[in-house]
Amino acid sequence: MPNHCGFICAISGNAGFKYTYICRLILRMIAMKEIQMVDLRSQYEKIKPEIDEAIAEVLQSSAFINGPAVKKFENELAAYVGCKQVVACANGTDALQIACMALGLKPGDEVITTNFTFVSTAEVLCLLGLKPVLTDIDALTFNIDVQDIEKKITPKTKAIIPVHLYGQCADMESIMQLAKQHNLFVIEDTAQAIGADFKFSNGSVKKAGAIGHIGTTSFFPSKNLGCYGDGGAIFTNDDAIAYELRSIVNHGQKVRYEYEMIGVNSRLDTIQAAILGEKLPHLDDYATARNKAADYYDKAFAGIKQIKTPFRAANSTHVFHQYTLTLNGVDRDKLKETLAAQGIPAMIYYPKPLHAHPAYKDLNRKDSEFPVAVDLSKRVLSLPMHTELDEEQLEHITKSILDFVNKL
Ligand SMILES: *Cc1c(COP(=O)(O)O)cnc(C)c1O
Repeated sequence: MPNHCGFICAISGNAGFKYTYICRLILRMIAMKEIQMVDLRSQYEKIKPEIDEAIAEVLQSSAFINGPAVKKFENELAAYVGCKQVVACANGTDALQIACMALGLKPGDEVITTNFTFVSTAEVLCLLGLKPVLTDIDALTFNIDVQDIEKKITPKTKAIIPVHLYGQCADMESIMQLAKQHNLFVIEDTAQAIGADFKFSNGSVKKAGAIGHIGTTSFFPSKNLGCYGDGGAIFTNDDAIAYELRSIVNHGQKVRYEYEMIGVNSRLDTIQAAILGEKLPHLDDYATARNKAADYYDKAFAGIKQIKTPFRAANSTHVFHQYTLTLNGVDRDKLKETLAAQGIPAMIYYPKPLHAHPAYKDLNRKDSEFPVAVDLSKRVLSLPMHTELDEEQLEHITKSILDFVNKL
């Protein structure tokens, strides 16, 4: 390519500078990789031989369900997360449902959870006949507001489900204290924060998902540890809970065709487990790559008053499942449109708090109860974030946003 460009410049004679500039511009447009919210293809290409071999091995063995790769991955993930047991399952939504079932929650029990997240938490609670009691969020971290949890605890409250949103842990120290005080279970939804470290005030560090009674996660392809289809897992340090979890994922049976409890069918395919087994050793490097992109964004937007970059909590590392800006006095739709025209995708996570959706109107909650979530849902914008963003792409993204904002 450079030779080609040099050739064009050479034949254009003495026009020198201007042509060189245009040539560079064209070159750049040709050379820059298409910007995606998540670039799964490039990530795969880097570990293609290992992945292909792992899949081929499963095909050869034809142990498609409960093959040895499943147990092996469960053990490796338990070691990584620092919990006693991992139970693989079919997806992150099932993981939450199975967690609630394993704790023996009964219809009518109240479960306190955040109003500003993906729908899974509220969905499974409703399906089980449990009552989701939604809270507002902390204005800095987007995570569940601990004071609001405390206000909403009643004699019917049985559990709290914090969600570690965008890749940063909720305030697990305060949440575990509250739970202990009121004898409540805690289920951590770690779908966006696998690998994040939470630091307690005494200096001890635990990974997201290994702090509560149960942790859940998702291996949806775009998650930080994604497989090539659907997958999920449940973490616990409690052997009795693990026993329940293992029965429930397998139709409520421990011994074949002996049903101890009502269960579900929720499995991680052997092929997906084999893929995840290859990807897990890269997870920390993936987090580093995401942090590098986040640092680039942070620096580019520093001091711009219309753009608030993600807050970094002192008690948690951030694994940047999403890099989410909060806009001040910026027309979000217009910015999104302008970026799209320049080949830059951006997404709104999430356009509405859960209570505002028709499916959850029976919860009968009002906007005024969630001032922070309602406000932020109108101002957040998530930028492309994945392990394969290069500097040229980041420069193009940040420059385009700054150009837009500076024209305001
Ligand atoms: C992705 C996600 C889930 C659901 O995971 P699936 O595997 O798609 O079912 C649950 N909670 C949160 C916070 C998520 O981001």
